[in-house]
Amino acid sequence: MTVLLEVSGLVRRFGGLVAVNGLSFTVGSSEILGLIGPNGSGKTTALNLLSGALKPDAGDIRLRGRPVAGLSPDRIARLGVARTFQLVRVLPSLDARENVLAGLAFRADPLWGEAADREVSHLLQRVGLGGRGHQRSAELTYIDQKRLELARALALAPKLLLLDEWLAGLNPSELQDGIGLIQSLRREGLSIVLVEHVMDAIRTLCDRCIVMNAGSVLAEGAPDAVLSDPQVVHAYLGD
Ligand code: ADP
Repeated sequence: MTVLLEVSGLVRRFGGLVAVNGLSFTVGSSEILGLIGPNGSGKTTALNLLSGALKPDAGDIRLRGRPVAGLSPDRIARLGVARTFQLVRVLPSLDARENVLAGLAFRADPLWGEAADREVSHLLQRVGLGGRGHQRSAELTYIDQKRLELARALALAPKLLLLDEWLAGLNPSELQDGIGLIQSLRREGLSIVLVEHVMDAIRTLCDRCIVMNAGSVLAEGAPDAVLSDPQVVHAYLGD
């Protein structure tokens, strides 16, 4: 398997608190890696370091061998890393098409004019929002805002997609749709880091899981093995 992302010895402090404490892992091409762990274990901070929203205090992040730690979010986006947020961040006053267009502007090879219009239509279709391009995003339902945020991330034509609890808050049938959508992205060659609490989704989607606890890796392996590891169960449930 080709390694797409290589993280080693990543550290990030907030004052005296070490939120990410020597984190190391790899993500292969077309691999879905689950990043799981109890609240406060450092998952979102790790995603913020990968996307450039935060700068690491130490450690190395390589994308196809190229060092990217500490680069700005737009540089990292142009190198092929896109993300969604735990709290959906669509631009509420813009319609769905305009939201996706905003994503296209951050591509390494920006698209304009008719080519951009065609790509927006394709992406909206891709995430299940075909025909709803002119709806204001504030008026979309929660799941559709999530779909839109995914379309905007895909507009970057990423190699690596970082999903921060993208499946949270969906009803059972939306969850099945969402899982199917993520699987189809992997089949198209995307690598995905999935921060998620929905255990069924982790079991179905992830090739491997990293369990974080207090900023470090507590366990790593196939989802079923990791989720039944007594140390992991203990970390989740506490004493
Ligand atoms: P998770 O995503 O696993 O819930 P986070 O990465 O959000 O964990 O947080 C890890 C730790 O870092 C927590 O103790 C949290 O309170 C702290 N933390 C996260 N962001 C900040 C920040 N901007 N300033 C101070 N502390 C932070």
